[in-house]
Amino acid sequence: MKKEYLKGLVAAVLIIALTVGLSAMGKNPTVTNGTPLPAGTSSTSSGSGASAPDASGEYLPGTYTYESIGFGGPVEVAVTVGESGGVTDVKITGDSETPDVGGKAIPQLAEQILTAQSAEVDGVSGASVTSQAVKDAASKAFMEASGEEMVEIPQPAGDDLFVPGTYTGTAKGFGGDINVTVTVSENAIEDIQIDGSHETENIGSFAVEMLGDKIMEAQNPNVDAISGATVSSNGIIRALNNALVLAGADLTRFNIEEAADGEKIMAYEDLDCDIVIIGAGGAGMTAAINATQAGKKVILLEKMPYAGGNTTKATGGMNAAETHYQEEQGIEDSVEVFVEDTMKGGHDLNDRDLVTIMAQNSSSAIDWLDSIGAPLPKVSFSGGATNKRIHAPEDGSGVGAFLVTRFLNKIDELGIDVMYNTTATSLMTLDGKVTGVMAEGPDAYYTIHSKAVILATGGFGNNQSMIVNYRNDLLGTVTTSAPGVTGDGIVMAEAVGADLVDIEQIQLHPTVEQATSMLITESVRGDGAILVNQEGKRFINELLTRDVVSAGELEQPGSYAYIIFDQNLRDGLKAVEKYVSTGITVQADTIEGLAEQLDIDPATLADTLAKWNQYVADKKDPDFGRDTGMDADLSKAPYYAIKIAPGIHHTMGGVKINTEAQVIDTAGNPIPGLFAAGEVCGGVHGGNRIGGNAVADIVVFGRIASDSAVKYCDGE
Ligand code: ADP
Repeated sequence: MKKEYLKGLVAAVLIIALTVGLSAMGKNPTVTNGTPLPAGTSSTSSGSGASAPDASGEYLPGTYTYESIGFGGPVEVAVTVGESGGVTDVKITGDSETPDVGGKAIPQLAEQILTAQSAEVDGVSGASVTSQAVKDAASKAFMEASGEEMVEIPQPAGDDLFVPGTYTGTAKGFGGDINVTVTVSENAIEDIQIDGSHETENIGSFAVEMLGDKIMEAQNPNVDAISGATVSSNGIIRALNNALVLAGADLTRFNIEEAADGEKIMAYEDLDCDIVIIGAGGAGMTAAINATQAGKKVILLEKMPYAGGNTTKATGGMNAAETHYQEEQGIEDSVEVFVEDTMKGGHDLNDRDLVTIMAQNSSSAIDWLDSIGAPLPKVSFSGGATNKRIHAPEDGSGVGAFLVTRFLNKIDELGIDVMYNTTATSLMTLDGKVTGVMAEGPDAYYTIHSKAVILATGGFGNNQSMIVNYRNDLLGTVTTSAPGVTGDGIVMAEAVGADLVDIEQIQLHPTVEQATSMLITESVRGDGAILVNQEGKRFINELLTRDVVSAGELEQPGSYAYIIFDQNLRDGLKAVEKYVSTGITVQADTIEGLAEQLDIDPATLADTLAKWNQYVADKKDPDFGRDTGMDADLSKAPYYAIKIAPGIHHTMGGVKINTEAQVIDTAGNPIPGLFAAGEVCGGVHGGNRIGGNAVADIVVFGRIASDSAVKYCDGE
């Protein structure tokens, strides 16, 4: 039903395939099935207009006229661009609008568009339907005036499968983009050309050759992958699916009852919801719960068989200021200090507006977590924070696993539809607005139509080729990122025009056990642990920001260090149990015994510990000026050590968002219908994320993204 609506009424359909590299897409194919009035026409009848001298600008000269449906009927907008590329005239005709409401708004809207030289204007309050219609039509006009390629999207005649023609779709293969160009007649696939030149020779290239024939023979894209070349095969099928959608195909018509012997049947399914959320990590689950609580129908896609992403691995806590827990515990803190700490930690590269919004909303986010049964009452110090601000679970367990369990409970309780093992592969946009997602599960290809999409796919810490693309110096560095954290959301967003910020800002975490990539939470240092080098000596204030501590470690002999703590610390921090049970800790009843196992001079290590314990008693560290995480000394046997070095931990850069979590395009405008939250976004953490801010980010912006998406669905 919805599909018919999309096909019949909406003017522009853009389907961009998910690609591996960010640079690969080039110009987006834009397809339309609307009825743009011919360029060069000017509006007729009694339209209201606004005109200005020909200021220089970025558009192609001409008049671009488009129509949309307003309150009472069609509304036509004609945007004229002068020789210098600036908009010189905006004429709006809407004779059917209520004279006192929409009719009155029309001249104001024309003026707004002319002044802004853009369709992104506030609109006129009280005349929201007319305003939206004008903005819709104007945005098509501006799109065409920007030289965006406009291709007719066809509607097959009668019961036909396709509108005859040649169409190209793109998708991610093994080695890069795969382009599939398909020629179709009314009811047949006549020819398939596959360009998969990046695919591995003899493996992927074999699939490239074989699969085209197989699809032609079956007259169906729904064929089994060539064994041994599954990634390339699936890329080809996805690219072909995208091309066929551009040919007007309803993919559900390719569902098959029976596969050839031994072959797998993939179904094509159309789904509908209000909001698709991509990624069931902390940001995605927060958004899903929040939007469902607001009455929206949500589909949450997760490519892994389980939820959690990097969020599960967050062991420290959540930074929040002016919370009721801080107040109850007599801790003085403020939103302003939180902002300044975050800016300072991020080397002032952060987007201050985003940081301010995060800090301002952090306390209410803690309240919201309370309300869904995920309280974080234990407040302590963490690196880069002036005050005790990091909020953790009562029992000292890792914040991430704690939250993921509670989020999943809530998701169950609310009956939210979570589709596991289902990867979002492309965003669909209609008329410049994001309206859904193409996805792929184990048994089906999905075309999911929605009013809004929230990207919550996390960062790209587990995508070596993206990491190396932006930071060649990090080649071969271990990562703490979860397997699903591969930058898909960044690639999909960029493909629909999103801007990226700080993409090369990749954080190393200073305490990563190298053999297991296991991250040793900052809370270990926050609760009093120290770092020593192979000589048994401290070398830094352990609670400086992550980049500084990482750099300090890399200067030590062998570029590693040991984190040292005692039984008292273990007793107070549940996360330590996992380190012990995994076998990455070394332990001894005396400091000298510990030193021997680490091949460190026992007297030096004993001296380092004695000095440190004195500094804790004095509340003063004359060697490195540490003044936090000194509540308890290290004097209760047994003693523990873990050998650590820096590892890739957080990709600070990503998709550009504004304070409403709308994704911003390269021209600085929000992309209608597309929202993002969490590690997929850039700007919040600047050049360095301080511990506890990832969880603050996902909960605060997960809620904001869903609030904004809900409003957008409601037409606000
Ligand atoms: P955040 O901290 O921002 O919430 P996480 O790393 O915790 O990010 O979660 C991101 C989640 O998104 C992971 O569970 C990951 O598997 C999932 N994901 C990433 N890409 C896709 C995709 N293309 N389709 C579906 N899920 C995805």
